[in-house]
Amino acid sequence: MSIASNISQIKSELPSGVKLVAVSKFHPIENIREAMSASQTAFGENRPQEFAAKAQALEGQGIEWHFIGHLQTNKLKMVLPYASLVQSVDSLHLLEAINDWGRQQGRTVSVLLELHIAAEDSKQGFGEEEILDILFRAGSFPNIRFCGLMGMATNTPDEDTIAADFGRIKAFYDYLVDLFPEYTDFRELSIGMSGDWRIAIRYGATIVRIGTAIFG
Ligand SMILES: *Cc1c(COP(=O)(O)O)cnc(C)c1O
Repeated sequence: MSIASNISQIKSELPSGVKLVAVSKFHPIENIREAMSASQTAFGENRPQEFAAKAQALEGQGIEWHFIGHLQTNKLKMVLPYASLVQSVDSLHLLEAINDWGRQQGRTVSVLLELHIAAEDSKQGFGEEEILDILFRAGSFPNIRFCGLMGMATNTPDEDTIAADFGRIKAFYDYLVDLFPEYTDFRELSIGMSGDWRIAIRYGATIVRIGTAIFG
């Protein structure tokens, strides 16, 4: 299957209103161009250097870039000038550094807070209490736009485990939307990758991040 036909196939199954972010990490620019020719506009990368290089090479071509990887504060300058959404904010230290960068640049940076939902210890992310603490004092981050949550399910073929992980993040997301009705930007739930996006859709994903099933 070609990149273009993989994209058309996935888009034909996505409910309207769910955004497909094509995860192009490790894949060359020509593959991104092929995806663009299939009307794909949102792309995700997880390494600052690769993200910046691709964003620069394709500047001015209407791509919406999402950063989805672990971000160290000394790499902000590679990522923030190009990112329409930083999906993977996983520490208070990083959030504060992004807010500082935004203040210096006179910009507001759109972010998702990454919730740790997987059974593995290795996955990054906040606990629920930490996210609550941050959102209760969202006013102390004037240069951050809190757009929602991101999460990765346990890496397992067991669909019940994956569904339980997504069920938990969806419930917490709904709770936050109810708790903070004034945060009208807080509407995105980024869950679902190549192996589990169909399950994520059942749990209210508004963004899916798909790499392998598009680019191989
Ligand atoms: C690589 C990656 C994806 C895409 O994974 P695939 O299984 O290739 O679809 C999604 N989200 C994050 C955070 C990733 O690092």
